[in-house]
Amino acid sequence: MLITVDGPAASGKGTIARALAAHYGLPHMDTGLLYRSVALSLLRWGGDPASEFEAVRACKTGLVPPDDPELRSEIVGEVASRISAFPAVRAALLDRQRDFADQQGGAVLDGRDTGTVIAPHATAKLFVTASLEIRARRRTDELVAKDKPAHFDEVLIDISARDERDAGREAAPLLMAQDAELLDTGELQIDEAIAAAIALVEQRR
Ligand code: C5P
Repeated sequence: MLITVDGPAASGKGTIARALAAHYGLPHMDTGLLYRSVALSLLRWGGDPASEFEAVRACKTGLVPPDDPELRSEIVGEVASRISAFPAVRAALLDRQRDFADQQGGAVLDGRDTGTVIAPHATAKLFVTASLEIRARRRTDELVAKDKPAHFDEVLIDISARDERDAGREAAPLLMAQDAELLDTGELQIDEAIAAAIALVEQRR
């Protein structure tokens, strides 16, 4: 069974995708980590995030290990969102994601375009969302819990800019697939959101 989980920043899609993978015993790929990894490689060798050529070079310089804590930093997320708008960067990362999706036995992928571009043939597609204010509140709380400086207003502006860039770009914009199920996590506790996600997948099986 192949499941895709797409949605904007801080919607809860990663948590839901991991829970679905554990529930169904499937391997999971966080595709945002690939873009973050390219962004971090680029920053580490001093490349220019505005240069498509240099961002593509960063795709080839070897990806950063997924447990590197810097991958989750706000600056890396910001640069990931910029370099992910380059078609050549998306093309360089495409096969890796499609191969993961098409492995025998199935998989769960989460990101922005997993149900529209990477695996349009998925068994079940979820589009996870919540209002901008709720997502900004969650991200602020997450940062504060990690002892990182965070101000709600700034986080809200950052997330809103990221949403606009992800949804407004020409290459694989953030878009709900026509055959995806919408899951608004705004009013749900995390265990309720996971239960709702499992119920939606069960409907599609
Ligand atoms: O989901 P996460 O915040 O880790 O993703 C970082 C950035 O990578 C996103 O803001 C988005 O621009 C990009 N991304 C993408 N396509 C995906 C996953 C992430 O463009 N499938």
